[in-house]
Amino acid sequence: MLRGFGARPARDGSERTSDPLPSLEGVIAHLRLLPPPPAAPGAGSGSCRGRSYDLLVIGGGSGGLACAKEAAQFGRKVAVMDYVEPSPQGTSWGLGGTCVNVGCIPKKLMHQAALLGSALKDAQHYGWNISQPVHHTWSVMAQGVQNYVKSLNWGHRVQLQEKKVKYFNIKGSFSDPHTVCGLTKAGKETVVTADNIVIATGGRPKYPMDVAGALEYGITSDDLFWLKESPGKTLVVGASYVSLECAGFLTGIGLDTTVMMRSVPLRGFDQQMASLVTEHMESYGTKFLKRCFPTKVEKLKSNRLQVTWKNADLDTEETDSFDTVMWAVGRAPDTKTLNLETVGVKTNSETGKIIVDASEATSVPHIYAVGDITEGRPELTPTAIAAGKLLAQRLFGQSSELMDYDNVPTTVFAPLEYGCVGLSEEAAVQRYGSDNIEVYHAFYKPLEFTVAERDATQCYMKMVCLREREQRILGLHFIGPNAGEVIQGFALGIKCGATYPQMMKTVGIHPTCAEEVTKLHITKRSGLDATVTGC
Ligand code: FAD
Ligand code: NDP
Repeated sequence: MLRGFGARPARDGSERTSDPLPSLEGVIAHLRLLPPPPAAPGAGSGSCRGRSYDLLVIGGGSGGLACAKEAAQFGRKVAVMDYVEPSPQGTSWGLGGTCVNVGCIPKKLMHQAALLGSALKDAQHYGWNISQPVHHTWSVMAQGVQNYVKSLNWGHRVQLQEKKVKYFNIKGSFSDPHTVCGLTKAGKETVVTADNIVIATGGRPKYPMDVAGALEYGITSDDLFWLKESPGKTLVVGASYVSLECAGFLTGIGLDTTVMMRSVPLRGFDQQMASLVTEHMESYGTKFLKRCFPTKVEKLKSNRLQVTWKNADLDTEETDSFDTVMWAVGRAPDTKTLNLETVGVKTNSETGKIIVDASEATSVPHIYAVGDITEGRPELTPTAIAAGKLLAQRLFGQSSELMDYDNVPTTVFAPLEYGCVGLSEEAAVQRYGSDNIEVYHAFYKPLEFTVAERDATQCYMKMVCLREREQRILGLHFIGPNAGEVIQGFALGIKCGATYPQMMKTVGIHPTCAEEVTKLHITKRSGLDATVTGC
């Protein structure tokens, strides 16, 4: 068994305080200079005498911290409760929530590790002598990533202290609409009262409970980023963001990696683009088990995990053994312990998520919710942060600005990245009818791929526009290197209502991949070859 869970700092979900923190001397020294945090008013009293805070935020992740810090800027008395329930495998982490600890940050850094592997291959075509065999050491990568994440945990604590936001490392639970209780690490009951309460408790990975052995032997993304040793030969079940991104970097660092996909990849995304993403991953070395459903996981004497699944196309039962099985079958909110029913906060009975209106208000006046815990919102860090900040500004800064969830750009950090903003082609057709939209597209070759002799078959972009005179851009989709960087800039234009003629008047930057967007002229309707030729 190659897997290790050495990162388990505290099984009770309380924060690590005694871990060595290499490269953090500066942060620690800075922390020492800061005065000790003020005693929490109302904390530990065990009873509720007057409201102690203007705002209490439950959940110290992307949305919660942004909201708390913004509220503190207005001179309000603010507290944050954050508690990490260890994963079923015992992995836990510090302040900052999913993005910092088990999401965007470690994922992007491990994606970078994989990109460097590809760059090493390219480098030889550019004259670099790299002695063979080249191999990757998981523990070195993991140590670097984990140290960086720990520095972010410290950074968040420092920021809260600097902004005079009281931090409770406590799992909160409502006892009445203005009161939240929880136990400290030492088992002491803490009661916090506040005029306004924001719930920002995010979600956690799901396990397929109908698959025998899933919980006992499988891990999730909550564990992967904290493994001390390589996961080895890995099966990743699921075919959305988390699955494809993790399978992509595992393949990229040289691990034998398989994705089990029961239906389509990247449901909800433009399906032409999604197919190109998986096609590229297959050419990159990731194996795909299509239309397959896991049925059980067993541990062999060798400590390997034997997985059995049904192949729906062949109507057969198949097995293989892996060092690690990772479930990437979606995420679920954990609202049970919040005691929401007692205070009357309504949730969607199917998803368990909190129902909010456009102002992030729940069914209870003065209780709000932001981020992944809310029904119908994108599960993305920038939307959680923006929603949290705007909420604080409305609560305390006399603002009335609402969060605009339209045209939110996003990127799937697969080995060949896919970035997009706006409508997919399917959604545009559904909304406006195929006669009313025009799709401009191009297959292009990044200049850097030429000397390196890299295959560019899946480097593709398309712009979905209205067909009427103004030709407003409805969606932009880009597969290629640095897709996130490319789409971020164009997202501004699309947010501002950019049109196809305006895009054509935009001067490209030569030689880049992004400039191809400003040159898109072949329509899908024309049936002409969309391959970009020449310079
Ligand atoms: P979270 O960040 O999840 O924070 C919630 C916090 O509340 C947690 O610390 C939790 O432990 C705590 N908590 C829960 N219950 C309680 C309680 N009762 N009391 C006290 N504390 C509690 N998004 C992107 O934009 N870009 C990416 O590249 C990206 N990559 C991702 C990769 C992975 C593998 C995953 C899983 C997610 C990724 N995301 C990405 C999504 C992003 O991480 C989330 O959308 C974002 O973190 C949501 O923020 P949040 O504030 O809603 O919740
Ligand atoms: P999703 O809910 O998006 O996808 C779940 C996947 O698992 C789907 O492919 C689904 O298949 C499959 N699945 C569900 N149940 C089973 C089962 N029992 N057996 C086999 N397969 C199953 O979840 P993710 O965890 O991938 O992502 C959650 C959210 O996190 C995303 O929506 C995204 O907003 C955010 N995120 C953002 C990232 C970024 O910005 N780069 C990166 C990672 C996450 P089917 O389609 O058939 O239902």
